[in-house]
Amino acid sequence: MTDKRLEGQTAIVTGAARGIGRAIIREFAASGANVVINHITDTCLAKDLAEEVSNEFGVRTLVVRANVADYEQVTTLIQETIRAFNRIDILINNAGITRDKTIKKMTKEQWDEVIHVNLDSVFNCTRQVLPYMIERNRGRIVSLSSFVALAGNFGQANYAATKAGIIGFTKTVALEVARNNITVNAICPGFIDTDMLQNVPEEIRRSLIERIPLGRFGKPEEVAACIRYIVSEADYMTGQAISLNGGVYI
Ligand code: NDP
Repeated sequence: MTDKRLEGQTAIVTGAARGIGRAIIREFAASGANVVINHITDTCLAKDLAEEVSNEFGVRTLVVRANVADYEQVTTLIQETIRAFNRIDILINNAGITRDKTIKKMTKEQWDEVIHVNLDSVFNCTRQVLPYMIERNRGRIVSLSSFVALAGNFGQANYAATKAGIIGFTKTVALEVARNNITVNAICPGFIDTDMLQNVPEEIRRSLIERIPLGRFGKPEEVAACIRYIVSEADYMTGQAISLNGGVYI
């Protein structure tokens, strides 16, 4: 894409070094946004991405290592963003993990870890960017929920609970900040071909594809394009949970 609809804007994407987050960074940078690449493990990967998009699209970048499950580390992420760009226009709550087990075998640690990374992070980031968006009377927040929030998924009670929680959070915060011209939406991807799905055994991957009317997994770039549309064009859309799942009927 060549238009620069996001020129001059600053976008924070959590968990952005790989997978869907990486595709979002590329899509936003192609649209002219300055991007903040949050990650937790591989700083080299995040720095390579920053160099790639600044060379390719001429945008400014900031790489911040922070565990978004931790409120204070998110404070630092926001402060560094403000120091570098002096504004936050867009927040994408993308970081997420799975720790799959049936409920009979799920440990308290597996429950807690997924709740902290997938759900606490959404509070930690949204709560702390809002003052900067309210100050400018504009903002766009999109959180990655999932198909699983709506349909359930065997072995993912912890993950599904967080993704369903994100939808309730989104609808509520959307009501609270609409008067500030801030939109808050969630996106519910189906099965998207990233590392998260690579961890699923091959025979289960095959059975998943059989359930998808479009006959294939989604691509990270397809999720990124939909999110770019939400933040740059869908000004009248707020409080929604948008499905992007190849036609799987829920
Ligand atoms: P990946 O496993 O490929 O990437 C997850 C990202 O989250 C990584 O970049 C990782 O960072 C980051 N992350 C994990 N924990 C933390 C943390 N504590 N703090 C900061 N970053 C963290 O996942 P996907 O790209 O597939 O998924 C992205 C989002 O989309 C997730 O919320 C996921 O639940 C959701 N989703 C994915 C679907 C799919 O089929 N793939 C379907 C529906 C929703 P690092 O690289 O530094 O480890």
